[in-house]
Amino acid sequence: MSRTLQAPVTVAFDYTRSTGPVLGRFLTGLRDGVVVAGRTSDGEIVVPPPEYDPVTHAQLDDFVEVAAEGSVVSWTWVPEPVKGQPLDRPFAFALVLLDGATRTLLHALDVPTPDAVSTGMRVRVRWAGERVGAITDIACFEPADGSAAGAGGAGGAGGTEPLAVPDPVTGVITPVSLDYVYAASPEESAFYRGLAEGRIVGQRCPSCGKVYVPPRAACPTDGTPTTDEVEVSHSGTVTTFCIVNVPFLGQRITPPYVSAYVLLDGADIAVLHLILDIPADQVRMGMRVKAVWKPREEWGTTIENISHFAPTGEPDADFDSYRHHL
Ligand SMILES: [Zn+2]
Repeated sequence: MSRTLQAPVTVAFDYTRSTGPVLGRFLTGLRDGVVVAGRTSDGEIVVPPPEYDPVTHAQLDDFVEVAAEGSVVSWTWVPEPVKGQPLDRPFAFALVLLDGATRTLLHALDVPTPDAVSTGMRVRVRWAGERVGAITDIACFEPADGSAAGAGGAGGAGGTEPLAVPDPVTGVITPVSLDYVYAASPEESAFYRGLAEGRIVGQRCPSCGKVYVPPRAACPTDGTPTTDEVEVSHSGTVTTFCIVNVPFLGQRITPPYVSAYVLLDGADIAVLHLILDIPADQVRMGMRVKAVWKPREEWGTTIENISHFAPTGEPDADFDSYRHHL
């Protein structure tokens, strides 16, 4: 058995961003099948257009359309794409100088092997099947084979009847996600293994006597290594709390609900958990609560073995009993 535990963790959040007039113009162009560049004060044609002129710092408002076709200036091979990259098979990232531009655009180039890429090769935009006004409207670049008749992208826009002009793009939703492996320390591993046995395990500092749950490797107060394992009560006192009113990605409980710090009896530091089985507006500082465990067959080595904390019905704790633990 390994000494420590580890577990995969994903942190994900959707950003809703306003694009502003410059990137909005660029993204509106992509949705409509054209590549919009910005002309800077020193005559560069830049894709995507910068929001401010790099020399004068004035807001950029000189836009020009460039071709959806160009030449590879530089590239690198991606043999093992990771989640979220433009293609799920090996591909090249290429700096592409679109015809009409003077600065390159970085994007994926769909070719089967590195032998199929070369500096100077002609490539063109492969548009996404459904364009929504995002950088992903350019699915990737593909070899143009030197035979493309007319600019591929501009043709797409020109072939559309100019009936209703859709509104300009003013916002995008950008999902942000990070996968990582959390490696627990030996002390935390003991805590999680305790949870798998229905116990809440902390460690006492041999110097100042404080009990930490979950245990740290060293006492945060005096730095002494904490080695004495102690089991703490499943009951405790709400010290501080917040009422969660806002929905968010991955939320499993319908708001409003309470997330609280609970000072377990025998511990000197509070743990954060849910307070349920009571209306959110009745939770209060000093309220006595106890851990409600999930059915044993659902247990793992996780704090989620404890479903939530619920009121015990005891009288509230005196403020003095937890004032030093806020
Ligand atoms: Zn200490």
